[in-house]
Amino acid sequence: MKVAENIGTLREEILGRKSEGKVVSFVPTMGALHGGHLSLVDIARKNSDYVVMSIFVNELQFNSKEDLLNYPRTIGQDLDKAESVGVNLCFVPNAREIFSCGKTLDRMLGKESSVRRCTVKAGELADLWEGEYRKGHFDGVVSIVSILFNLVSPDVAIFGEKDFQQLKVIQQMVKDLHFPVNIVPAPLMRESDGLAMSSRNLRLNDEQRMRALNIYKSLQLSLKLVEEGEKKASKIIEPMREVLENQGKLKVDYVAVVDTDNLRAVDEIVDEARILVAAYVDEIRLIDNMHLTRAYKH
Ligand code: AMP
Repeated sequence: MKVAENIGTLREEILGRKSEGKVVSFVPTMGALHGGHLSLVDIARKNSDYVVMSIFVNELQFNSKEDLLNYPRTIGQDLDKAESVGVNLCFVPNAREIFSCGKTLDRMLGKESSVRRCTVKAGELADLWEGEYRKGHFDGVVSIVSILFNLVSPDVAIFGEKDFQQLKVIQQMVKDLHFPVNIVPAPLMRESDGLAMSSRNLRLNDEQRMRALNIYKSLQLSLKLVEEGEKKASKIIEPMREVLENQGKLKVDYVAVVDTDNLRAVDEIVDEARILVAAYVDEIRLIDNMHLTRAYKH
């Protein structure tokens, strides 16, 4: 596996592979790699001849200094893991390489930046759920993904359903801005006990991890209720909140039953829907989601 720390090396390498006619896939990550990330690489390999991964903690998408500074960074292990699953090229730039003015961290730290950078504004799907609780988050996401797409020029890019709203926002960005990139969704991967794999899980102690499991329990409960014939969103959300808040002692940002395409809340599940959860285990914010279908019942 080749490692590129700067844009010149990255571009030269990719141009070389493209001139050989290789189909290039791309897996953007913020590192602290786990099985979820590695499953994306698997899908990338199946869809291309040459897999590029990026590891970059994008400060633009953090709206809390505490969250940014505490985000796990495990670059040595990440490179070993990426190589072991067949990544061909790993792009590991520092912030100065990506943000030419180098002022964004200053902004996060509360200092005024003298330069306002050019950024991308996400479409309307970004106003809901995560966007409501993390102001500016998706603008940060689409800005960095646009930059990375321009640098990597992939044919295919893989995004996980773990961040279901992010996947939708990216799909809208690619469509609206005419990026010639095929977005391939990847299923959400869980630990054996059901906890959704996440880099932030590294921050959980044993007691917090036990409490975090209530997120999965609440999702399973929603699935069971739908299988038993429940259609009304409120009748699903209420018992889920009970599990999250009373059993898990979690602070819930939102539990929502939403339309799979436009992400708007639905009152009733007709055929299928997605259930979205965001909750804090103490100061650690976790998100999860599940597909709900009535297709095989009633
Ligand atoms: P992150 O490093 O958290 O920015 O995630 C990088 C990519 O990995 C995104 O497309 C995520 O949706 C995806 N991802 C993260 N966790 C999981 C998971 N548990 N299952 C599947 N994909 C995931």
